[in-house]
Order: sequence, then C-alpha cells, then structure tokens
Amino acid sequence: MGQWVDAGAGHVVQPLADGGVLWEHDTLPGYSVPRHMVSPANSATWQVTQRDPLTLLPSLFCDTSLGGCGQHGFVTQGRWSGT
Ligand SMILES: [Zn+2]
Repeated sequence: MGQWVDAGAGHVVQPLADGGVLWEHDTLPGYSVPRHMVSPANSATWQVTQRDPLTLLPSLFCDTSLGGCGQHGFVTQGRWSGT
C-alpha cells in the first residue's frame, strides 16, 4: 500500500505504483459513508508530475453523484486548491 497524502479541504490522495491515482473525500456532513472513493483503482486519468510534494495533472472533480463535495481543483505541492 502506498501512502495517503492529506491534500486539505477534506481530500486525500494516494499515487499508485502503476501511475494511477486514488483519491477520496473525507466524511461530508450528511453522508453516512465514512469515506468515498472517487477515482477508479486502475485510473490512468491523472499523471503524477511530482511525487513529493505531490503534484497531479489534470484537475480533479469531486463528483457529487459519487458522494463528493462538488469541488473542482488541483493537487499542487501536496495541497488541494479549488478552481
Ligand atoms: Zn471533495
């Protein structure tokens, strides 16, 4: 297992050995699911442009239909920044 990076604003991200990315939004008010996996486990959608501190491209959309918060943002230098 890789390490989860707390990117802030409730988002945690884990780059995978195969180049994919897992990311989740921590528990949101009103949601019963403790954590929600937003990305597919074998995602090739995001590129890890820098591993430490973590920088990903392109942006991530925290899909409300999957239990996310609806934010659209970038993970740059290990931190979430909304667009
Ligand atoms: Zn979110």
